[in-house]
Amino acid sequence: MAKKCIYCKAEISDESVIDFCERCGHGVWGKKMFDTIVNNMNKARDAGNLNQGSVSEIEISKETRKK
Ligand SMILES: [Zn+2]
Repeated sequence: MAKKCIYCKAEISDESVIDFCERCGHGVWGKKMFDTIVNNMNKARDAGNLNQGSVSEIEISKETRKK
């Protein structure tokens, strides 16, 4: 089941650690902040902490609580 961007509904990789596409991420946070968020999420995932989106909700709870 493919994930979809919560903003524009574009399909995004199932392996993506975020719930939105890069383009929307840049629009919401700006490129620098977006890159920081993605880096943090990737690190968390690599560390095995990413459990069904719980990390993403903590890291970016402001914009992504739409589930
Ligand atoms: Zn999008």
